[in-house]
Order: sequence, then structure tokens, then C-alpha cells
Amino acid sequence: MVNCPICNSSALTSCGERYDDRYGYPGTFALLKCSSCGHAFLRGEFPPELLRDLYSNYYPRATFDLEWYQPHEEKFGLKAWLAGEKSSAFHWVPRNVRVLDIGCGFGASLGYHTARGCDVYGVEADENIRRVAEKFGYKVYVGPFDDSKYEAEFFDYVTMDQVIEHVTDPLSTLRGVARILKSGGTAILSTPNAGGWGAKFFGRHWINWHAPYHMQFFSRRSMQLSAEQAGLVVAEAKMITNSDWLRCQWIHLVSYPKLGEPSRFWLPNHDGMRMTFLQRRFIRAMHEMKINHLLTRVFDSVGLGDNYVFALKKQ
Ligand SMILES: [Zn+2]
Repeated sequence: MVNCPICNSSALTSCGERYDDRYGYPGTFALLKCSSCGHAFLRGEFPPELLRDLYSNYYPRATFDLEWYQPHEEKFGLKAWLAGEKSSAFHWVPRNVRVLDIGCGFGASLGYHTARGCDVYGVEADENIRRVAEKFGYKVYVGPFDDSKYEAEFFDYVTMDQVIEHVTDPLSTLRGVARILKSGGTAILSTPNAGGWGAKFFGRHWINWHAPYHMQFFSRRSMQLSAEQAGLVVAEAKMITNSDWLRCQWIHLVSYPKLGEPSRFWLPNHDGMRMTFLQRRFIRAMHEMKINHLLTRVFDSVGLGDNYVFALKKQ
């Protein structure tokens, strides 16, 4: 018997099977949706051995050269708005606060916050961050997020950019986040919206199913219920999607792999990627003529965008 991981309801509907259409992990995974809170999730057990296999043997190890390191620089104006610049959680953190970025990647957000006077901390599972942290003196914990590494009520802000959909137990992650937030503090999360136009229009080819790495797909309701159970409240739920996602979506569509095969597009350097002349022209035109940008802005504005930005407040 399977129940919704968020509201525990047993009223679940099947949304078919998904497979790893990026890195070719074998096997299919059932996608279920809760009729009560709208949360969608992958069915099945994901023990630590399986997760280790997934992330160390299939997820490509990123190559990173220290010389490429650049702190994120904020862009403003129409161009930034068209691109969906504010789709990332870290953009919503004010100056001069103490902030933890869970899943900080190569640390672009850490440099951004540091330049804005913040006392900044990071968590990242990818070992590449170690060299960046050493060079720039960033306080980064390398490994999975573990709230016991921090004092309670320590942070003004905690951000998770495209992270919560990857975790097996989102409620326990959010409880950990709530513990280390000061009262009045805010957690900001960005996560794909499986209830938007993208999932409907592209079906199982939607770029953000990303099975089996993405396991949790929040609705407004399921995020609200999760927040409550963690001792937080949803202060804001915005819909802002980066328009580059749509450019990637078109390429994903024309390079869609068979079960058990990696997608050429998602391999490092797009190894062996082939597109026809017309496909290439179409994809370039959609982006250069800003059609991707306009579509993304329109769908966001009517509440059917591909990406949520949630602000969860601790009372
Ligand atoms: Zn539910």
C-alpha cells in the first residue's frame, strides 16, 4: 500500500511510467499523483545504495576548472525579466544576512552573497566545490545536507535551488531547515511545477520529469502542507521560469533517447549529439526571436509555468 508522502492520503492516481531520459539508468519508475493534495512522486524504495549508484555511476561527474569560477552577477531590466532571471531562489535573499545555500553547486551564489555583505554558508555533494571553497574561503560542507551540523536558530535565510525535488524524504529535510532558521527567518525554494503547461504539452518528454533523480513534484497545496508539518508557513508562492529551460526542452525533444540509453544532449559536451538542419534552425530561431522567452512569461503569468519559487517563513 502506497500513501502520499506529504498528506498520507491513499487516493492516488497513476500517471504512467517514467525512465531516466538523460543518463540511461535502466528500468522504469511509476509516477503517482495524490488526488487530495496534488503532490506527484515516484513510487518505490530508494535506499542509499541505489542513490549512490545513481549519482556516482550515471549522473555525469561535472568537470570544473577553478579559472572558470565567477560569482553570480545580478542582471536587471527587461532582458533579465524576459530571461526569467529571478527563477533562482538565491536572488530573493537580501543584503547583510546570514544565509545557507543547500546545493550550492560551484559556488556562484556564495560569491554573490559575499559581495552583498552576507555571512554565507553552503552545502554541496559535488566534490568540485572543495577547491572553490578553499580558494575563496567559503564555508562549505561537502556532502548531503545534515541540519545537525548547525546550531538551531542560526540562519536568517536558507535557500534550496532545484533541490527539494531530489530528496527521498522532503518533510524531514524541511524540518531540518526549520530548525536552523531563526524565528522570523525564511527558506526560499525553487522547484519544477508538474502541474504547468510543460508537463501537459510535452507529456512524458517534459524536461523536468528527470526520473529517477526528481522524485517529488510539489503543488501549491502539497508545499503548504509540507511547510505546516515542518513548522513553517508559505509566505509567497511565485511562478518564475528561466526561458532557457524551453530552449533545452526543444533539444531534449528532438534527441529523446530509448529506455536504458543516455541522451546525447545531456552528456558532457553533448558527445555525439546530432540534429538535422531544420531542427537546429527551429531551435535557434525560437530563442533568438525571443519566442521561448515570451511563451515562458505568458505561461508564468497565468499560473501555468514550469517553475515555482516558494518563500517559507518560520513564525
Ligand atoms: Zn497528498
